[in-house]
Amino acid sequence: MLNIFVWFMLIATMACVMLLVYAVASHSSERSFFLIFASICTFLYTAGYLLEIISPTLEASFMGVRVQKMGTPLLVVFNYLFMRDVYGEKRFGASRYCLLFALPVFNLFTAQAFPFVRLHYISIEYFYNGYFANCQGYPGPMSYVATAYNFLLVFFSVRRILKHLKGGSRLQRRQGFCLLASILIPLIVNIYHTISYNYLRPDVNPFAVSVSLALLLYSVRNQNLLNVVPLARAQVIESMADAFIVCGRDFSFLDANQAAKELFPELSALIPGEIMEQVKQFEDHNELCLQINGEMRFYKVTQTHIRQSSKDSGICIVFHDITDKETQLKSLYGKATFDPLMHIYNRAAFFDIAGLKLNTDDAIEQPYGLLMIDLDHFKMVNDTYGHPCGDIVLETIASKVRNHFSKEDIVGRYGGEEIVVLLENISARQMLDTAEKLRAVIENKTIYCHENTIGLTASIGMAHSPAGSIHSLEDMILQADLALYEAKNGGRNRACLYGGSESTV
Ligand code: GH3
Ligand code: MG
Ligand code: MG
Repeated sequence: MLNIFVWFMLIATMACVMLLVYAVASHSSERSFFLIFASICTFLYTAGYLLEIISPTLEASFMGVRVQKMGTPLLVVFNYLFMRDVYGEKRFGASRYCLLFALPVFNLFTAQAFPFVRLHYISIEYFYNGYFANCQGYPGPMSYVATAYNFLLVFFSVRRILKHLKGGSRLQRRQGFCLLASILIPLIVNIYHTISYNYLRPDVNPFAVSVSLALLLYSVRNQNLLNVVPLARAQVIESMADAFIVCGRDFSFLDANQAAKELFPELSALIPGEIMEQVKQFEDHNELCLQINGEMRFYKVTQTHIRQSSKDSGICIVFHDITDKETQLKSLYGKATFDPLMHIYNRAAFFDIAGLKLNTDDAIEQPYGLLMIDLDHFKMVNDTYGHPCGDIVLETIASKVRNHFSKEDIVGRYGGEEIVVLLENISARQMLDTAEKLRAVIENKTIYCHENTIGLTASIGMAHSPAGSIHSLEDMILQADLALYEAKNGGRNRACLYGGSESTV
């Protein structure tokens, strides 16, 4: 018949199994890695103790002690490592781990078999008080060393928690207190048990250790700091439209999100450590245009150097998708530059672009011509067919003018129904010819609008600025305007060159 204390320890052991399962199941971040090992150690401790107190003989009872000794030497070390992870401390290198585990592993093995057990227990006796058994060992030298070592690690853990208690948020402080309790409860119980020595008094240390484990799991789970925050970060990064790549300083591949794998499909085939040849070429603040699924997309590259303890340990490259911004900018540029009706440069853009062209060092070497085209009696078109038809006429004529010249020539709306064109590297003769051809194109063009057929003519004024002279846009406009005036006065539907000849029908 099991007594109440055995039942109590049985429940504590079962709780430990559940905590262990829970720790494994809820392990979703790097930070709870050591907690799983701490849970295993706690389980071995409580299960071993249960075995100890229900065993009818010294041998069987000592078996329980051995099981306990598989967990206890490592328990404090794993707890310490877990605390470090909680606060994002850098993980140790292999040699540090060896150093840290050397003593606990030595204790773990020596406690399993004679004659080394003597290092831990000078002698062992078996007691039974009618309720529960107790395998009582009288501490040996290693027992004191192990206790001192555990106290040292506890001291480091507590110091770390206290350091972080000061500055953190409310949530972090709450977590800090919880972690502190998880360390101090078993510590106080252990000190109390050691001071008030009584062989046949139940040892509450295993129970205190399970409470500590429950507190640690509570701090991980309920306060969501460990599993949700890194998980949220990982999920946000994974679902980002921006491509995110982490690599070493030498561009050796480490990690990439889904968007990065879509952008650079070859990343999916890379194994960590391989050099990312294609990504290597992109520098910080580069802007690039890539074709993705037949669509042009724009990206801005940013490189962030990841520093760990003031050492450059890697690079995080983000390709920000700026396609929408680029599209908006293009549309804004279009609106600010082009005339919405004629789809040629507006007046301001024409002056800017033509002015810039004439101001270059090379401009002086070349002759330039300027055409000013004004539709004849256009007001009558509006009056006869209405303004919507007038608009269609303007749009059609502007398109004819644009197509009449080459891409290098600058065509803009000067105002109303007047169009100006700056022609590069053209003689006066060539200009007269091209203007005459344009005049004929307009004259012969029939425009259909709302069942009306509209025909009209244009007058063209021209100015020519020969090579070697300083080209002034304002002067050329003035002269072309005067020539246009002359063409209008001469009977319209003609092209006149300032200070020169004219072409007529
Ligand atoms: P002229 O032969 O002397 O040039 O006669 P005109 O009637 O063409 O006279 P003018 O060049 O002074 O008139 C320009 C007309 O163009 C006046 C205005 O009603 C019309 N106009 C200006 N801008 C627009 C526009 O955006 N749409 C329409 N439909 N008409 C416009
Ligand atoms: Mg006009
Ligand atoms: Mg006119």
